[in-house]
Amino acid sequence: MGSVSKARPRSGKEIDSIAYKVIESFQGNTLKMITSFDVEGFFEFELKNQTGIEPIPQRLPDGLDGYTDSETMKCFISLNLMEYGECDVTRRRLRATQAHEIGHCFLHVEDARRNRDFQQKFLNDKKSSLEMYRPQDIKIYENPEWQAWRFASALLMPEICFMTAVNSDWTKKKIKLAFDVNPSFIDVRLQELKISKHLKNG
Ligand SMILES: [Zn+2]
Repeated sequence: MGSVSKARPRSGKEIDSIAYKVIESFQGNTLKMITSFDVEGFFEFELKNQTGIEPIPQRLPDGLDGYTDSETMKCFISLNLMEYGECDVTRRRLRATQAHEIGHCFLHVEDARRNRDFQQKFLNDKKSSLEMYRPQDIKIYENPEWQAWRFASALLMPEICFMTAVNSDWTKKKIKLAFDVNPSFIDVRLQELKISKHLKNG
């Protein structure tokens, strides 16, 4: 794999607004109340309509949760994640992974197809975690992985709904259940939106 090519620079706010348009197109009431976005349904039934990219559940190598291939216009999700059974943590990781890959589909695939220098595959695994990118090579807002994670946060926890929950003194547990996300995802969203308030675990 080697290094990752730069994506078109985008601010967090810009990525959030792209995610909100996706939400509105599929489940507009998500922005009017605090509820979870049906990311599984969007991935399975709507992604291809809107992007031309085909969602494919597939057995993937250990540690690889999903990837998007801009050349073949296919988006793969690990079957291991999809077979979550009774495990909410795995199911929520599936939701986050789908949201992340949807981010690549909306933010990067078109540019990748236009620009041959751009990386063709966006791998979602431990090896391509943010740490592997040397900051001197690529700025965070040009990093396609950072952008796709920001998109995932916004898709699953739109700012307006998230702020309502935080300002209503919801506990972390209540927020987790309402948006159907793992707690680490909530911490990331707090940082992204520069909220210093400490949430009770409760
Ligand atoms: Zn990725």
